Parts: sequence; C-alpha cells; structure tokens
Amino acid sequence: MKNLLLLVLSMVAATREATAQEDAQCVRERAAMVETIRAYARSDASVLGQQGLSERVLEAMAQTKRHLFIPERSCSIAYADGPVPIGHGQTISQPFIVALMTQLAEVAPDHVVLEVGTGSGYQAAILAHLARKVCTVEIIPPLAEAAAKTLRDLAYDNVSVRLGDGYGGWTECGPFDAIVVTAALGQLPPPLIEQLKVGGRLVMPVGPAYTTQQLTVVEKLAPGKTTTRAVAPVRFVPFTRSQT
Ligand code: SAH
Repeated sequence: MKNLLLLVLSMVAATREATAQEDAQCVRERAAMVETIRAYARSDASVLGQQGLSERVLEAMAQTKRHLFIPERSCSIAYADGPVPIGHGQTISQPFIVALMTQLAEVAPDHVVLEVGTGSGYQAAILAHLARKVCTVEIIPPLAEAAAKTLRDLAYDNVSVRLGDGYGGWTECGPFDAIVVTAALGQLPPPLIEQLKVGGRLVMPVGPAYTTQQLTVVEKLAPGKTTTRAVAPVRFVPFTRSQT
C-alpha cells in the first residue's frame, strides 16, 4: 500500500516536471517567435514605416499562448512563424501577419474593437490584451463554440464571441474604434465602414478568393469620407456569406 502510494507520488512529480519543462520550452519558443516578428518588421520598413511594430503589440504577442488556440496544442507548431490549420478548411494566420494587422489597427487601451472571422480566437486574444472590449463574429458554428470556450477558459473576460455572418458587423457592440477582418473579400462591406467611429481604422484583406489579396487599411475621416491604402500582398481564406 505504502509502495503504491510512493509510486503514485513519484509519477505525479514526474508529470509535474515534464509539464514544467514543456512550459519552459514553450516560453523560449514564444520568445523566439517574437524576435522573428521583430526582425521581419525591421527588414520590411516599407510596410510599417520607420516606427515598425510597437512594443505594446510585441508584448501582446509575447503574452498570448498561441499553442492553446490550435488543435495540436503543440508549441513547436504554434511558435513557428507560419499559418496553422484549425479545422473546417480554415487557418490561423502567420504570427507576423497577426502582429501587422494589429499594429495597423492602432488599438489603444480604451478602444472597442470588432473582429470578423474569429477562427481559433487567437487574434481576438491579442486584441483583448490591447483594447477595452473585443467583439468577434464567426460564421462556422463549431469554430465559434470552440473559440468561445478557449477564450473563457483562459479568462479573456473582455471578449464576446457571436455566431453569424460578420458582413453586417455587430451594431449592438459598436461603434468601433478599430475593425479587423481576417477573411478575404473582393470589396469592403459598407456596414463595417458605417459601424466604424470617425478616426477609426478597418484592416482587411481585399481581393479575390484563393489568390493574393491586398492587405488594406481604411481610415474613416468623417461620416461618408474615408481614405484607403493597400499595405502588402497577403493570402487569406475566403470571406463567406450566410445563405439565409
Ligand atoms: N482570426 C482567426 C483566423 C481566421 S481564419 C484566428 O486568429 O484564428 C478566417 C475565419 O473567418 C474562418 O474561421 C472563417 O470561418 C471566418 N469567416 C469567413 N467568412 C465569415 C463571415 N462572413 N463572417 C464571420 N466569419 C467568417
């Protein structure tokens, strides 16, 4: 009996040690990912300008456990700077693109932000580190459910997830200081421009599905008045529309 107890205790200790080692490995891999993103931003000054990525955005990337948002929950997959499949034909974007879109949205601590295309919930979590409130819409039911659970389990209390077609935005949650769309569409959805505050920014891949799109930043100067600039070529999954 005593031996059995000792065996169980040593197994618990071994598991704890393995978890601690894995955690330390994850922390190192995540820090390396942040350095890769920083290096990209420096080498591609034409995209972000001289100021590059802000420390606030890099800090949010450093604090967010991307491995808990992907099906494999593997750190070596999560912290390589590449897109990762999340099921249902969808992918979580490359970390550098997540950082770039977040930077371009210019999120401040008092901001209310809309994301269209919740996917895994990772981009929403990054935004939640930087903004007061994040509202995010996902059209595929199991993804919306899984993301809501992940965000809840990780205590992201300032994020609300809604199931639906994000083309129409989310009026009750807005108006928004920033909107980030993570699926590609040929044109800007007018309801999103409408729900953007004056001075706010919409960041979105604009272009045809299954090919290269332009990452586009729209700034709302006044009601009915916007400026639009294309920032970089990107490849996103298609923005789909609900049939109902
Ligand atoms: N931002 C996500 C990745 C998004 S992949 C993350 O961090 O994991 C793009 C997502 O947009 C997919 O989950 C897709 O189902 C969703 N999507 C596509 N069209 C949509 C629409 N009309 N409304 C809401 N979500 C949409």
